[in-house]
Amino acid sequence: MHRSTWIGRLTWIGRAASIAVVPRHSALNHPQAYAGSRLERAAAQRGDAATLAAMAKNGSAGFYLIAGDQVVLKTNDTGFDPLFSSAEARACGHLRETVFLGLLEEAPRFGAALDTSSIDSLKARGDLKLIDLRSIAVQGIVAADHLPPLAEAKAILGWHARHRFCPNCSAATDPAQGGWRRDCPSCKAEHFPRTDPVVIMLAIAGDRCVLGRSPRFPATMWSCLAGFAEPGESIEEAVRREIHEEVGVGCARVTYFASQPWPFPSSLMIGCHAEALTEAIVIDKSEIEEARWFDRDELRLMLESRHPDGLATPPPIAIAHHIIRDFIERGADVLVA
Ligand SMILES: [Zn+2]
Repeated sequence: MHRSTWIGRLTWIGRAASIAVVPRHSALNHPQAYAGSRLERAAAQRGDAATLAAMAKNGSAGFYLIAGDQVVLKTNDTGFDPLFSSAEARACGHLRETVFLGLLEEAPRFGAALDTSSIDSLKARGDLKLIDLRSIAVQGIVAADHLPPLAEAKAILGWHARHRFCPNCSAATDPAQGGWRRDCPSCKAEHFPRTDPVVIMLAIAGDRCVLGRSPRFPATMWSCLAGFAEPGESIEEAVRREIHEEVGVGCARVTYFASQPWPFPSSLMIGCHAEALTEAIVIDKSEIEEARWFDRDELRLMLESRHPDGLATPPPIAIAHHIIRDFIERGADVLVA
């Protein structure tokens, strides 16, 4: 299986020796979008349908609404608000699925999917705005604390939308456990939501690293390589394989940087640096338009939007930006566990 992915429109993304996997990014510092949720997921409550129903009616309950691939926002004098009361949510249309996201302090938070048939009528309302979650993050139009629960809601509701039938016996399945499981009434199988691991990384040799461009990138955009981890593969193996497949560079040590939920539709970006052992670049043209080595001085110009040819790196909402920034600031020390 050979499958690479895109990180939004900007970042796309793609044997061996010793391994070092050490988190070097403060767990309390989440500059990348969608990470750092303040919600307590309160998983123990998921099986108590009566309590969840009472929570949904609580005056402190808040709902994040998803319609197809879009987030529904309320417009107000100061901007946009993604949090709806129970009555406001129900006034937007039929809530196809409701998922218990967790508690913000004591306040329950839910994600709810509106029927896609209501999208046109929602767009016609002057007090609402429908917009994709990537644009919300790039434009910074809601408070940053809302981005993690919005990502949680979008990912889990998207899973429901795509998993209505049992993969064992094809019968229609039913939501359970506050929306964190689907049960098959026919063969009794229980199905759990998926998160797909994607490795995203820089291959580094001394003061240089490899960036690539996909044909779908803006002409001046360069980013980290990336690709899905495959079944039966460790993160380190996936990093080495993707780099080798996409640009032909062999790598040894792999160090972990940080991770980022990426709900497009349900990925977890696992950021790494890798020690390159070879220099020649051989591009997989089915994946990449261009790839080459960049030194730290040139990377800094790109990151700071000062490159003489206008070359650029992804914006700060993406973990690729921070993987590159860490290398600019620390050089090959990023490979020291
Ligand atoms: Zn079944």
